[in-house]
Amino acid sequence: MPSPLRVLFIEDSEEDKLLLIRELERGGYQVNSERVDTESAMRAALRKQSWDLVITDYNMPDFSAPVVLAVLRESGIDLPCIIVTGSQGEETAVATMKAGAHDFILKGNLSRLVPAVARELKEAELRQEQKRTERAIQHLAYYDTLTDLPNRTLLQDRLQQAILAARRDKRTLALLVMDLDRFKEINNILGHHYGDLVLQQVGPRLREVLRESDTVARLGGDEFAVLLLSIGLDGAILAAEKILRHFLTPFVVDCLSLEVGTSIGISLFPEHGDDANTLLRRADMAMYEAKQQSTGYAVYSPQHERHNSSHLILMGDLRHAIDRNELFLQYQPKVDLRSRSIIGVEALVRWQHPSRGTVPPDQFIPLSEQGGLIKPLTLWVLKAALSQCHAWHQAGLKLSVAVNLSARNLQDPQLPDQVARLLHAYDLGPGWLHLEITESVIMADPTRAMEILNQLSKMEVHLSIDDFGTGYSSLGYLKKLPVDEIKIDKSFVKEMAVEKDDAMIVRSTIDLAHNLGLKVVAEGIETQEIYDRLVAWGCDAAQGYYISRPVSPADLLGWLADSPWANKKSASEDESRIT
Ligand code: C2E
Ligand code: CA
Ligand code: CA
Repeated sequence: MPSPLRVLFIEDSEEDKLLLIRELERGGYQVNSERVDTESAMRAALRKQSWDLVITDYNMPDFSAPVVLAVLRESGIDLPCIIVTGSQGEETAVATMKAGAHDFILKGNLSRLVPAVARELKEAELRQEQKRTERAIQHLAYYDTLTDLPNRTLLQDRLQQAILAARRDKRTLALLVMDLDRFKEINNILGHHYGDLVLQQVGPRLREVLRESDTVARLGGDEFAVLLLSIGLDGAILAAEKILRHFLTPFVVDCLSLEVGTSIGISLFPEHGDDANTLLRRADMAMYEAKQQSTGYAVYSPQHERHNSSHLILMGDLRHAIDRNELFLQYQPKVDLRSRSIIGVEALVRWQHPSRGTVPPDQFIPLSEQGGLIKPLTLWVLKAALSQCHAWHQAGLKLSVAVNLSARNLQDPQLPDQVARLLHAYDLGPGWLHLEITESVIMADPTRAMEILNQLSKMEVHLSIDDFGTGYSSLGYLKKLPVDEIKIDKSFVKEMAVEKDDAMIVRSTIDLAHNLGLKVVAEGIETQEIYDRLVAWGCDAAQGYYISRPVSPADLLGWLADSPWANKKSASEDESRIT
């Protein structure tokens, strides 16, 4: 049964109203109505509830149809309004229709009422439908579908408006751009479902520490922005610190507790820019800086620009570094903790820049990844390391050599073939080459990485997971990968002496890895105390400044000559034969 028609009658005669109701009921409508005959009563009725239809008389002692139409227009409510009158002529009809009446019916011709009402209701419904669609389209254009937060376009709009208002009232404002740490890993390991749920929690979490008037927007991916009105440098820093503290609490998704940190960049109006795009770009630069320096937040400074443009220059130089022979390798010994002898080395690349001196890999490896140079760079490292390894083997020094891979390398289907060809060229069995891969390298694209890892593993190249413990994967997950070894990250090893928790992590990692048939290497050993403890806990191998810093091949021979970890006889014997 259809719900009753809610009709507001504006009519001074109760009798006429009953007449109209009867007519409507004859037409099949069930009517729910109220009758008013003054302007104030009409306003009250409109406020009190919603209506489907207004039917109004033309002339009343205290009211008239043109005023009724004016009130309706002013209220902004889209209500069909039909005028029913005894005597008005055609001209009046036309005039009122122009003023917004939907139909004009003479009391002598009430048979027109029901069809008119039916038509008007239908049209009103269509109008509403269209409005809903328009609102939805509007929403799509300005809001992010996943989080329902304002999107970049709306943020830019609001920022521009806020700038105009701030300029007028001589106030300041701040823009925060933030990027989640480790989001990609969550997405890749746990799946997009979890990633999405985390993203959906970001807005509400930010809201908890912000004022009602602050805008929180999603810029895309795992990037968010916060617009803070009437706030200066101190206030912006305070807000950033509050957000950072608030993000220390793990996100709980389906009973899983996920640690999601964030890095924040801050730009201020008018200090750092006076249009929306400049402020956004500069907050973004500051955010990048905060991420690089792991400082949590950073306020924009012109130095960030130089930094970025110097990145560009460096990137240009890097393109030539390989051809100009500016790259070289250092080797850090890896010792077996049971036999206390050297078993291999890790090749670590350096760049002898013509004007900047030695540039550490942390500064140019990310650049070469961004600039598409990582494939030729890795190929160069592989060649140089295997060539050196070949020379050692020729001299009777049987060392394995480890090479670090980047994310892009594990998406390169040519890699296994290139490795095979180089091993063949330098006459080395595959076991002498160790490839070190960080968890995040695998997580960048697990399916493709897995294919390439399987190929390498089939070739019997030795595979290690580097920096273990800094990512999200569990040992159980790693077990599914064809790896032989994990390297516990140096941050845990270094803190072992002072932090009970870190010691616990290292110790249980060793046990668990052994249960899964994996070898364990500890990196970053700087003291005898830690060395001894790792020996006692059954760790298999170790690397670190306590044993040796990364050194040139010539210095490695010197180290071998008087190191307690070297097989002195063969090392010194071989020395003369190595170039
Ligand atoms: P990584 O693979 O974790 O390498 C170990 C880093 O720790 C090296 O830094 C090494 O010098 C340093 N280290 C070794 N022992 C100790 C210690 O006892 N204490 C401390 N504090 N540090 C120690 P380095 O050479 O600056 O390399 C940094 C990172 O750059 C490497 O981390 C690796 O991820 C990357 N990298 C280096 N060479 C290559 C390369 O040829 N290809 C790729 N893709 N990445 C490379
Ligand atoms: Ca490594
Ligand atoms: Ca490492």
